[in-house]
Amino acid sequence: MSGAFETSTRKCNHPGCKEPGRYRAPKSPDQLDEFLWFCKNHVREYNLKWNFFNGTTEEEFQAQVDRDRVWERPTKPFRKPGEEQRAWSRLGIDDPHQVLGENATRNPGKAVAGKRRLPSKERRALDILDARDHWSKSEIRSQYKSLVKDLHPDMNGGNRADEELLQQVVWAWDQIKDSRNF
Ligand SMILES: [Zn+2]
Repeated sequence: MSGAFETSTRKCNHPGCKEPGRYRAPKSPDQLDEFLWFCKNHVREYNLKWNFFNGTTEEEFQAQVDRDRVWERPTKPFRKPGEEQRAWSRLGIDDPHQVLGENATRNPGKAVAGKRRLPSKERRALDILDARDHWSKSEIRSQYKSLVKDLHPDMNGGNRADEELLQQVVWAWDQIKDSRNF
């Protein structure tokens, strides 16, 4: 996927890295002809992540997520709904359809239009994943993957503040993946 380009004058694209970017890697599966440039260490890291997020099977992907749980803090309680909502907006995740809106978080016991009856864990999982009731399992899985990608400490320059949120996202997908409701 990469070899050194000695003539490259680019800087490594890894945030904060001052090394020359002599190794290139495709930006994304959809942009195989557009490249990011990295130093040797960071291209290796990037390529590992590439394999991570483009794994061929769900099992491989899940296994990788499980292995990444080494930095998990299992005794920490989940955030309360209000805090969670702030957490999402802190991440800059839009909520155009108001799925995580006031009604969902402030009046959890009240029936909200368009919401169907679900086991409470699955309801909570949908809220955490910012998914909608009518989504298919594969749509929810896509959402899950993109959240994991955004929240994973390896993907955001080592920002560990989102670990707890990532834990919740992984937990949420655990509730949905074998559910017959989706
Ligand atoms: Zn670098």
